[in-house]
Formats: sequence, structure tokens, C-alpha cells
Amino acid sequence: ENPLSAQASKQAALVAKHPCFSKAGHQYARIHLPVAPACNIQCNYCNRKFDCSNETRPGVVSKLLSPAAAVKRFVKVKKHVPETQVVGIAGPGDPLANPKATLASLKAIEKVDTDVHLCVSTNGLALADQLESLMEAGVRHLTITINCIDADIGQRIYPWVYFNQRRLRGREAAQTLIDRQLLGLEAAIKAGMLVKVNTVLIPGINDFHIESLAKELGRYGAFIHNIMPLISDPAHGTYFGLMGQREPTKQELNLAREQAGQSMQQMTHCQQCRADAVGKLGQDIDLAALENSEPAQV
Ligand code: SF4
Ligand code: SF4
Repeated sequence: ENPLSAQASKQAALVAKHPCFSKAGHQYARIHLPVAPACNIQCNYCNRKFDCSNETRPGVVSKLLSPAAAVKRFVKVKKHVPETQVVGIAGPGDPLANPKATLASLKAIEKVDTDVHLCVSTNGLALADQLESLMEAGVRHLTITINCIDADIGQRIYPWVYFNQRRLRGREAAQTLIDRQLLGLEAAIKAGMLVKVNTVLIPGINDFHIESLAKELGRYGAFIHNIMPLISDPAHGTYFGLMGQREPTKQELNLAREQAGQSMQQMTHCQQCRADAVGKLGQDIDLAALENSEPAQV
């Protein structure tokens, strides 16, 4: 068999069953397991009062789960929603800043269900260092949130980055994060992962940069690009360092997607899910009701 086509068919199989990597995956459901509280960077748009993962969606603070409790939840949900094909770890902090809990959860899930696809969402800072363990755990779907590849822009988005036991600030923080993100992106693609890149669109901060960012992502070989509007409704709390920052308009979002679309396939059906989302996209199931139903058989 031609190795190129073998790789293409492997990729097609990965795409087909993930509701976020293709619209065709909409009949499948995903579950996010909130096992990762800490983060190794600070984004100005992050308010840890809320579930944010890298996908900032205001909501109620999720109840953090231990890896054991996360597996229990998965087993229970899978029983009620058999279409659950994807298990993702996306927060509420950064999964790779919580490697023990993240890997323990992924490994435990693999033990109870070898068919399910494992997905991790990260800011990318620790990705290059942890890629091997992720591959070993069976993760083949990855989301990296990359908001820019220019440190002058980055320093307006990230007040600090914690790297190699040092808290970096300013331009140095942004440059370190960007370097590590691109290193991790390249390594993950080389390792055969299917990589989605999320970008939070922030008017006046990174909107004029989206086109060149997407070009670079395309050059690296990222699979799909998900441009998400900044959510900055004061009713949901004040954001760490972007007070008064407005959200993009629908037109601005469309324009950014159009510009990026010249070099990257665009995802336009993202629901900006919470770190503990469960069910098909746009049809989240009521976890509380489920948790109160009969106990899971593990
Ligand atoms: Fe918040 Fe995610 Fe940014 Fe960490 S990477 S600060 S959890 S938005
Ligand atoms: Fe998919 Fe977007 Fe939800 Fe992540 S936040 S699971 S990419 S729909």
C-alpha cells in the first residue's frame, strides 16, 4: 500500500468521528473531563472563575474531577449517549500544566474503552515536552490555541508565562510561548496527530494579524483553524487584563475567517464549549440530572 494514501486514510478516520474536526462528525458526541485546574500561562481574556479551557466560554465553575471520578462520568455518559466517540481534556486550566491528572485520566479511559478517540486542548507551552507521553497514551486529536506569532502582539494578550521555573513577562514571555507553540505544532504534526488551531479574535489586538497567522499555520500543516470571537460580556465577569475590550462583530469574525480561509480550512461550527461539556455539539446533555441518576457500573 502506498504510505501516503495509508496516512490519508488514517487521517480520514480520525476526522470522521470527531464533531469538531468536521461537520460530518455531528452525529457523534464528545465529553470534556474537567481534571486540569492549573495553568502555566495567563491570558488576558481568561477569567478562571469560569470554565474556559482554551475555549473561553462563560458559564458556571465546573466541579473538578479526579481521574477516577472522570472515568466514572465517562462510563455513565457513554451508557446514556452511546454516540460519545471523543473524550477531550480541555481544562478548566491547561491539561499539560496538569500532566499527572491528564495522563492518568486518558490512560484510565483507554482501559475501559479502546475505541474512543482521545483529544487534548492546550496553549502549547508544554506540548513539545509532553508530546511523547500524549502519543503513548493514545492521543491523536490535538487543539492548540495560538492567538498570534508576533511577540509584540503576544505581550498584549499574555501578561505572564511560567516556563522553566521562571515567571516571564512582557515580550520575553510572549516570544517564549510562541516559540514553544510552533515547536509543539511542528512536532505534533510530524508525530501524526491531527491538529486544530484555535485563535481568539480580539479586535484591535490580533485581528489585523489573522491572515499571516493562518498562512504560517498552513505552512506547518495544521489541519483546521477555528477562529473564535472573544467573549467579553461584563455580565460574565471582568476579564483579567482586557477590561473594556469589545468583542468582534459578526462581520469582523466573517472577515477574519475569510482572510484565514485562503490558507487554512476553517471551522465555523464551534460552540465554545465548557471544560465539562457533554453530548453532541449544540445539544449538551444535563450533567446534573445524569449524575443524580443511577450509579455508574464500572
Ligand atoms: Fe486561561 Fe486557558 Fe489562557 Fe490558561 S491557557 S490562562 S486556562 S485561557
Ligand atoms: Fe469542539 Fe469548539 Fe466545543 Fe472544543 S469548544 S469541543 S472545538 S465545539
